[in-house]
Amino acid sequence: MIIILKPGVTPEQVDTVIQRVESLGLQAHLSQGTHRTIIGVIGDESKLAAEPMTAIPGVAEVVPVLPPYKLASRDAHPNNSVVDVAGVKIGGGHLAMIAGPCAVEDAQRMDEIAGAVKSAGANIYRGGAFKPRTSPYSFQGKGEDGLKILRDVGDRHGMPIVTEVMDPGRVELVAQYADMLQIGARNMQNFVLLTEVGKSNKPVLLKRGMSATVQDLLMSAEYILSQGNANVVLCERGVKGFDPSTRNLYDVAAVAVVQQLSHLPIIVDPSHATGRPDLIPACALAGVAVGADGVHIEVHNCPSEAKSDGPQALLPEQYAEVSEQIRQLAQLLNKQISPLPGA
Ligand code: PEP
Ligand code: MN
Repeated sequence: MIIILKPGVTPEQVDTVIQRVESLGLQAHLSQGTHRTIIGVIGDESKLAAEPMTAIPGVAEVVPVLPPYKLASRDAHPNNSVVDVAGVKIGGGHLAMIAGPCAVEDAQRMDEIAGAVKSAGANIYRGGAFKPRTSPYSFQGKGEDGLKILRDVGDRHGMPIVTEVMDPGRVELVAQYADMLQIGARNMQNFVLLTEVGKSNKPVLLKRGMSATVQDLLMSAEYILSQGNANVVLCERGVKGFDPSTRNLYDVAAVAVVQQLSHLPIIVDPSHATGRPDLIPACALAGVAVGADGVHIEVHNCPSEAKSDGPQALLPEQYAEVSEQIRQLAQLLNKQISPLPGA
């Protein structure tokens, strides 16, 4: 931490700042330049981060040296983390291929779509049993019945399953069925929920909030990691943009930024990022090309009958095509789509 003092700061004010730093058990190193005086602070930065230093007269600015997300940062963990979702690896050259409908629907439909995405190359099956809908009148999900359907179908096809948990009080329930817990964009900063999934031992898919910065995303990951759950996979799913051409603004550069700053795997979700089936294949490939550790795509065998997000769903045959392209691109990048356990 570096404390920059205001021009014209008095010697008494400098002393006050130094005393405050030392009272926290930290060392202060005064450096007086011709134009500015600065104080370098040595010791645990987090102690100072909690103090309202800029409220002390004479202090202009406090500049942290380390990122505030200690556990998520690459400084703490230089090598890429690999997250294991019931035998499917994500990160460190292993790609996740998460696919399935937006919402869990009836068992037969879920079974058909699972068979189709599995043979097209998907390695994790998705579907929401609890859906965060903008309108209270829209389909809200099948709840626990949906969890049972997803679990049964996943088991029948030998695929791990990921599903969203919205309520801190239901983390335990969802964790009984799911192999991976999804935190949706709308809940990225639900800190009570993050703390609860942090206490669970299930891998977590943490989606970027629609107006969250990369730092916000990493701070939310830090909530989960700080509770002892190291199995966090991030997901870029677009942020609110100004242009209605796409559902959100796909921030593909954020993937590369996150990978510089953090060891955690990050995947892309071109379905929610664009909302447009015609753009999803190209945007999925762009995500892998920039370095993403996987791709999350919504697939439905009859989008016109889908209970949620039908207009953005790829048909199984469209998914098979993009999946094959991703496989070829992965090979070029010396990566591989993680095989299903037992495959
Ligand atoms: C979803 O995955 O269906 C979903 C609701 O995604 P997001 O939270 O990114 O909007
Ligand atoms: Mn959806």
